[in-house]
Amino acid sequence: MADIIRLLPDHVANQIAAGEVVQRPASVVKELLENAIDAQSTDIKLIVKDGGKTLIQVVDNGIGMSDTDARLSFERHATSKIQKAEDLFNLHTKGFRGEALASIAAIAHVEMMTRTEDEEVGTHIKIEGSKIISQEVAVVPKGTSMMVKNLFFNIPARRNFLKSDQVEFRHITDEFHRVALAHPQISFSFYNNGSDVFNLPGNDFKKRIVQIFGRKTNEKLVPINEDTNVVRISGYIQKPEFAKKSRGEQFFFANNRFIKSPYLHHAVLGAFEGLIKPGTHPGYFICLEVDPATIDINIHPTKTEVKFDDEHTLYAYLKSTIKHSLGQFNVAPSLDFEKDQNLETPYNFKDKAVSMPGISVDADFNPFQKSRTAKAVGYSKQPNAQGWENMYQGLERKVPNRESSILEMESEGFNSSIFDGTETQDTVTTTFQLRKKYIVSTIKSGMLIINQSRAHQRVLYEGFLKNITIKEAVSQQLLFPLTLNFTHGEISILREIKESLCAVGFVFGDITHETVEIKGVPVVVTESEVQMVMEQLISDFQMEALEDSFSQVDMLAKTLSKTLSVKTGEILDERSQLGLVNDLFACKESALSPFNKRTYITLTENDIDRKFI
Ligand code: ADP
Ligand code: MG
Repeated sequence: MADIIRLLPDHVANQIAAGEVVQRPASVVKELLENAIDAQSTDIKLIVKDGGKTLIQVVDNGIGMSDTDARLSFERHATSKIQKAEDLFNLHTKGFRGEALASIAAIAHVEMMTRTEDEEVGTHIKIEGSKIISQEVAVVPKGTSMMVKNLFFNIPARRNFLKSDQVEFRHITDEFHRVALAHPQISFSFYNNGSDVFNLPGNDFKKRIVQIFGRKTNEKLVPINEDTNVVRISGYIQKPEFAKKSRGEQFFFANNRFIKSPYLHHAVLGAFEGLIKPGTHPGYFICLEVDPATIDINIHPTKTEVKFDDEHTLYAYLKSTIKHSLGQFNVAPSLDFEKDQNLETPYNFKDKAVSMPGISVDADFNPFQKSRTAKAVGYSKQPNAQGWENMYQGLERKVPNRESSILEMESEGFNSSIFDGTETQDTVTTTFQLRKKYIVSTIKSGMLIINQSRAHQRVLYEGFLKNITIKEAVSQQLLFPLTLNFTHGEISILREIKESLCAVGFVFGDITHETVEIKGVPVVVTESEVQMVMEQLISDFQMEALEDSFSQVDMLAKTLSKTLSVKTGEILDERSQLGLVNDLFACKESALSPFNKRTYITLTENDIDRKFI
C-alpha cells in the first residue's frame, strides 16, 4: 500500500487550532488584550465594530516587536514567553502557547503595526487567511496595534454560527470587564461602533470596580483580606442585602487572571448562607495570589478553568475570610480606609452615632407572600389588582368553553373531559389547597389536582402573549417614576429587549449609562416587584437561558410568567383558588405550563379504588 500519511499544510493546521482558540469575537478580544498586557502596556485601547464581526482592534503602548519578531509572531508555537517545559511552572504572563496570533491570522484579515522603543521606524504587516499580503516599514508610534477584520471570512459555517451583534458585543464586554478588573492599574478604553463605552484611567481595584459597575457599587462593597502561607486573598464582596437575581457580578482572579471555579464559588456561597434571600446571588470580586508553581492554568484551552494544588485549604480559607468580613461589617460599616472623596457616600459615617447595622434574616422569607398572594392571582379585589381583569379581556374567564376544554383533554390523552356531565355545572365550585402547593377539586370522574404555580404560569403566559400580539398592553402609570440602577452590561441588555418590554406594558423614561427610569408597569407587576422582575429578565437574557424560546417576545412572556406566578408555599384564599382553576381551563394549552410541565393531573374513582385493594 502506498504511504497515505501527510503533514497538514500550516494554514490548515492553523485553521484547526483556531477552532479551539477562537470561538467568537470575544475570544479574539481576550487574546489581543492579554498580549497587550504581557507587552507591559500601561494604556490599552479596544475598538470594535458590529459585535466584533467587522472589526476588533487593540492598540497598546507596550514594548512592541522588531520586524523579525513581528513576522514570527504569526507562526504557530511562536512565543517569547516560555523557552522550556519547566517555564510552564513559573508563568507570569497571560499567554504562553504561542498559537493565538497564528490562529487568528488563519481565519481573518489581520493588520499589525508595531514598533519597539529603540527603533525609529516600525513594521506594518498584512495577513489574510495565514497568507502574508505585505510587510512594510512604517512610521508608527511605539507599541502595537492589531487589527482583526472580517472574522471567519473563510469559514462561512463559523461565521453564520455567530449570534447577533448585540450578543457578541455582550460577550466582548464581559471579556473586557474581566481583563480591566484584573489589571486596575492599566488604563483601558473601549469603543463600539464609533462611540465610547468605557474610559478607565489606571486606578486601584476598588475604584476600577466602581468605574465599571457604576458609582452605586461603592457603598455595596466590603473589603476582604487574608494573608496565609498558601494564598493571599484580597478584594471585595458585596453586602448581602445587595444580592441580585442575576449572577453578573461574580469574579475570581488568580494571579491577575480571571478564572472560573465552581468549587471556590461554593465556598463563597457557604459564607453567605443564611444572609441572602433564596434565589439571589451575592456579588464578589475576589483576588487570589498563589505561587505560580501551585496553579495549573493549562487544563483548558481558553484558560478560565484552573487547577490549584491545594484546593481544599483554599476553600476553607476563602470561606472563613468572607465570613470574618461579613461579621466585621455587621458591627461596623465598611472598614475600608482608602476612601476617595469622589466615591464617598454622601453622608459621613464619622458623624453618625454608631449603631448595629445588623443583617436581619427572615427565616420564613418568601418574596411573594406579602400583599401579593391574592393579588397575583388577581381575584381578590385589592386596590392594586384593579385593571387586572383587563389582561384577560377576550380570554374566556369562566370556562364556559367546554368544547375546547374537551379537545384539550383528549389531546392530552384523557378519555373524556374531566368536566363531562359534571355535577358542578361546567365549573369547579369547591376547591381546597393542599400543602400550599396544589389545588384540589372533585370532578365527576374523581379528583382534579392542580399545581398552583404551574397553572398560574400558564395563565400569565397566555395573558402576556396575548398582550404582545394584540399590542394592547395595559399598564399602570407609576405615581412617581422609579429610577433603577444597573451596570453598563445590564443596560445594554435592557436596550435590546426594551421594545418587547413596552409591548407587555412597561413604560420607560430616560435611560442613561447607569440608570433606567420606569414610568409605568404591567398591571400584574407591583411597584415593589419592578426591580426583581427587571433583574430576572436581565439574568435570563444574560444566561441566554430559555434558549428554546421561539422569540424574544416568547422568552419575555416566559420569564415574566415564571417570576410573577404564585409559588409553592403561598396560601390562596378560596376565591383565588377558584379563579385560578377557571382561568387555567380557559387557556388554550391548559394541560401544560409554559415550560412544558403538567399543570394538573386527575385521579379517577377507579384509581382511588385500586389503592384500597
Ligand atoms: P503567546 O501570547 O501565547 O506567546 P501569541 O500568538 O498571542 O502567543 O503571540 C505570539 C508572540 O507575539 C508573543 O509571545 C509576543 O512575543 C508577540 N506579541 C503578540 N502581541 C504582542 C503585543 N501586543 N506587543 C508585543 N508583542 C506581542
Ligand atoms: Mg497571546
